[in-house]
Amino acid sequence: MKSKSSLNKAMALIDANNFYASCEQSINPHLRNKAVVILSNNDGCIIARSPEARALKIKMGMPYFKVKERLNRLGVAVLSSNYSLYGDMSKRLMNLLKDYSEEIEIYSIDEAFVSIIRPKDKNLNPWARKVRCLIYQNLGITLTIGIGENKVRAKIANKLAKNIDYSAGIFDLVRINDESDYLRKISVEKIWGIGKQTSNWLQRKGVKNAQELRDMDEDEIMKKLGIIGKRLQLELRGNKCLPIETIKKPKKQIQVSRSFGKPITKLEDLTQALAIYAINASAKMRSQNLKSSTITVFARTSHYSNEAYQKSAYKKLTNATDNTSTILKIVVELSKEIYNPEHKLSKAGVLMQDLTNSKYLQQSIINYESQEDKNKSVSLMKTIDSLNKKFNNKAITWAITKKTQAWAMNRNSLSPVSTTNIKKIPTVIS
Ligand SMILES: [Mg+2]
Repeated sequence: MKSKSSLNKAMALIDANNFYASCEQSINPHLRNKAVVILSNNDGCIIARSPEARALKIKMGMPYFKVKERLNRLGVAVLSSNYSLYGDMSKRLMNLLKDYSEEIEIYSIDEAFVSIIRPKDKNLNPWARKVRCLIYQNLGITLTIGIGENKVRAKIANKLAKNIDYSAGIFDLVRINDESDYLRKISVEKIWGIGKQTSNWLQRKGVKNAQELRDMDEDEIMKKLGIIGKRLQLELRGNKCLPIETIKKPKKQIQVSRSFGKPITKLEDLTQALAIYAINASAKMRSQNLKSSTITVFARTSHYSNEAYQKSAYKKLTNATDNTSTILKIVVELSKEIYNPEHKLSKAGVLMQDLTNSKYLQQSIINYESQEDKNKSVSLMKTIDSLNKKFNNKAITWAITKKTQAWAMNRNSLSPVSTTNIKKIPTVIS
């Protein structure tokens, strides 16, 4: 029996369809209704496809060099991933969704859980249709909306909305008569929160779909999967166990890492790459009021290389910092420790760990920083961040980044970011 309150408050999982490809199609009218694929960093493999590209049976994860010719032949538009565009579109999407929900939890770049009160007639379809229209009108992106009593069932409803032709992108699991038929369509490995191992165990037990997991013996689940499994089953049965998380959990670490366009063999190049990542990571920390007291750098050869090499080095600080100059000095020193002239390095990165909120920092007695020094550092970084925000990123940066970056990532087919850069707005020629 479902309780009355669960019928009044609903949970929806709102998901943007083919998000990266949709963003590209939205800013470039030539790409609409065309087959579009997006490549991963460094133009490595296919990470997103428009429905038209799916229809051509182009697979996800395919290395670009292997399918380049075929894509050419089929006239598929190929684009490098443009994360500033996707990030900006995501922000716009979430801001619009906020106005149409009680609470919102941004779950990923293109997914959000929202809670919503059911109207008197219990029918949320008009609401869902309105949200879909609003987002399509404003951003040119199509949504899928799954509605249930809780997160697990909202996720399932979203899957059903995608797979059932007549759903028109909306599926409300609460308002159907025999849900068992629908739950049987969802295989266990597709259920949110079920990992590979759990799925294998369930399959061995003969539990193959969401309906069978819902009806499985609860003690058996508790014994094998503990409280997490039990909660999942309770949610499948319509109880609400997993709350909506409106406040972002503080980050445990900040990592900036990239694959190189060409392998690196010179120390100078490695140091420059790590310095650029450190500048980005420091700015990221400041934007979240965080400081780090453990700084790690790492580098490795390609996974396909015969001589595998991987090394990392770190430094612990007595005073946590977010000051780019301080961090750069450390990163430059650490890069010497991980460098090895005998290996062609294909990827490197920096990690900021032991993060603490800048407001509640403990002052070290051994390495005491005067208030004046601290104020100077804070105002310098603030000035740099605000100038970079105003004049588009990297207006102010460190000299080390200015030399030629022979190793930089391949992004040969990058779209212009017309939503974040005024210079990139398309012009109309009359
Ligand atoms: Mg999506």
